[in-house]
Amino acid sequence: MAEGKIIKALSGFYYVKSNDTIFQCRGRGVFRKNNITPLVGDNVVFTAENDREGYIMEIKERENELVRPPIANVDQAILIFSAKDPEFSPHLLDRFLVIIESYQIKPIIVITKIDLANSDELLNIKQYAKAYEKIGYDVLLTSSKNEIGLEDIYPLLENKITVFAGQSGVGKSSLLNALQPELNLETKAISKHLGRGKHTTRHVELLEIGNGLVADTPGFSSLDFSNIEAEELTYCYPEMKERFANCKFRGCLHDKEPHCAIKEAVETGEIEEFRYNHYLLFLKEIQQRKPRY
Ligand code: GDP
Ligand code: ZN
Repeated sequence: MAEGKIIKALSGFYYVKSNDTIFQCRGRGVFRKNNITPLVGDNVVFTAENDREGYIMEIKERENELVRPPIANVDQAILIFSAKDPEFSPHLLDRFLVIIESYQIKPIIVITKIDLANSDELLNIKQYAKAYEKIGYDVLLTSSKNEIGLEDIYPLLENKITVFAGQSGVGKSSLLNALQPELNLETKAISKHLGRGKHTTRHVELLEIGNGLVADTPGFSSLDFSNIEAEELTYCYPEMKERFANCKFRGCLHDKEPHCAIKEAVETGEIEEFRYNHYLLFLKEIQQRKPRY
């Protein structure tokens, strides 16, 4: 028995990487019985039939599991925003951060296309970057076009499974291509290989970038808060989570409640006002949601 990680799922096969060799594996029926399907990102035990094929015998316990894209054991999400085209939006960034935090996945903020920003715009972005860094987030400013800041991304990917997230047009594919120029070719080769039928086979693959694995499809495209309860929102804000214990009321939502440690921290400037304002907007959105039946 050998151990490995599923890096691709396609047409009923699971491609398991084990010590730099990729085995094309089938799942044994035991998964269907337990109602569990192997996912890309799963750590598995398999038997090798020969040096290229095998059978998955066991799926190791998952750290977490994303639905879209279907990937297990995601370590972090690189959240991509552009400095311009489209305009940098802290509101949208906070929305993404909350959703990623709700999955207990570590977000990293990358602001692309800084070559397009003028000096005022750059200053504005750097001020926001500082605010997010104060909260504890890594923030990187990059330009895929001018190859700025790319070197700082590789070490963050090392030995991790990373999902890229962000609106379309912010430069996700450009960044992936800038990080790994061969990727373009590979993707083309794969679609050519699949070109036998008309139907497009949906597949997920983890791409090797540096010493890390990156999902080939962006995640967290759905930006609603349908899986977050009002009481959970505090935990999606690291700077609130650590102060929450000092709120007078248990279950304080930091809205109208008196003696609220969060509101006090906003007043002293320890918590950024814009972050809190977004919190209130998100809270309303959650509270006004139709009840689920
Ligand atoms: P995606 O939809 O997030 O994958 O975004 P793309 O990678 O397709 O990029 C969207 C557009 O932004 C394309 O026209 C890219 O050429 C452009 N773009 C991406 N990165 C940069 C950058 O760093 N600088 C500039 N000036 N343009 C960029
Ligand atoms: Zn409070």
